[in-house]
Amino acid sequence: MTEDLIATALSTATDTKAIVHGRGVVDRTGDVFAEQFPGRRGIVVADGNTWDLAGEAVTASLRAAGIDLDEPYVFPGVPTLYAGYENVELIREHLRGTDAVACSIGAGTLNDIVKLASGELERPYMNVCTAASMDGYAAFGSSITKDGFKITRNCPAPTALVADLDLMATAPQRLTATGFGDLVEKVPAGADWIVSDILGVEPVDEYVWGLVQGPLRESLSRPADLATSDPDALAGLAEGLLMSGLAMQAHQSSRPASGAGHQFSHTWEMEGHGLDWEPPLSHGFKVGLGTVAICALFEVALTKDVPGINIDALVTAWPSREEMEARVRAMHTAERAAPLVEPAVEQTLKKYLEPEELRARLELVVEQWPTIVSRCREQLVPAAEAREMLRAVGAVYHPEQIDIDMERFRLTYYRAQTIRSRYTILDLLLEVGLLEECVEELFGPDGYWARDDAR
Ligand SMILES: [Zn+2]
Repeated sequence: MTEDLIATALSTATDTKAIVHGRGVVDRTGDVFAEQFPGRRGIVVADGNTWDLAGEAVTASLRAAGIDLDEPYVFPGVPTLYAGYENVELIREHLRGTDAVACSIGAGTLNDIVKLASGELERPYMNVCTAASMDGYAAFGSSITKDGFKITRNCPAPTALVADLDLMATAPQRLTATGFGDLVEKVPAGADWIVSDILGVEPVDEYVWGLVQGPLRESLSRPADLATSDPDALAGLAEGLLMSGLAMQAHQSSRPASGAGHQFSHTWEMEGHGLDWEPPLSHGFKVGLGTVAICALFEVALTKDVPGINIDALVTAWPSREEMEARVRAMHTAERAAPLVEPAVEQTLKKYLEPEELRARLELVVEQWPTIVSRCREQLVPAAEAREMLRAVGAVYHPEQIDIDMERFRLTYYRAQTIRSRYTILDLLLEVGLLEECVEELFGPDGYWARDDAR
């Protein structure tokens, strides 16, 4: 990993003060704790699996650094620990009875649970990372399921992280594959941000852009080696994921690391898809598939004669605010979509354009189209290339691999546009009246999703 990049990112991070990464660094946990939380007691929080993996090493390191420790808090290892709010409450109430600072040992779920519990107590914490499975380690906020659907709660990022690559290399390989899926979406997410920047919706912050996009191609360059948990390849992936988290922390938003591909995943997550599987369907598997979906959409979209659109006709046909709301409601009618309807209406109306605003937007799109095409082409990879990377690493690249049938998948292109106010290629295509044409082309004869090699 490049020490410089992480050090630079740490200098602007609002919450995270230290990241120790490399091979065998778990032994430095105690020193990091002592440095960041001088004079504080500690408590190790783990689940049965992560305790077996590193519980002893972490405890020994903390003791060696002279930290007084509470008894460890260990969640059961089976079934897979669930990022449910009830687990946040369990550990929060346990922590309330002590003044100890938590040192969690885990990946996405455990880190999110302890992050939120500590945040609710306004207490710092640190985490020892056990897998390169997502970009949330250094991110602020926690993704938790409450009353059956996923919510994101604001809470500070960890004060310190220990990322021992030898430890992370022993994680089940599917976790590495899922981390790759989360990271590869930063490619089309970058194109979404470029589009948004050119159209004056949300400017690109060059510094934050560099944190994510700088190490990205290198981090994604060795999917086949990641399939065998090669430590050097894993170092690259872990770096990319940590940098994305730090970028979100610096930007105080997930924009740098999440675009329309993530919205595919969020749609299925909010519909509860795969939450009750054992192990639950991972974030990165859905996001990887969303990446292929959006790369394929960009490929079609960038060939369209957008400057040839009829602006007057589009403005006349544009739905009123009420019609837009009705359109969203009509799109999420399945029982599983019930938790999604009100948030989708709210998010869609947040980005609603009045007809005259649409006119100004369309004039700008026409004027800027050649720039949009050239800058996005430079940023993107072909859908087939994204697919082959995901295949090589052992991740998901076709909807049927995760029990999403083709009809539901096709409709996800339309639904995903409604669930976040964030401006993406899906919004651009809706505004220029080409969303349906582009999506249907992908599923028609010769379309990406009709091809045998998509499978
Ligand atoms: Zn993600």
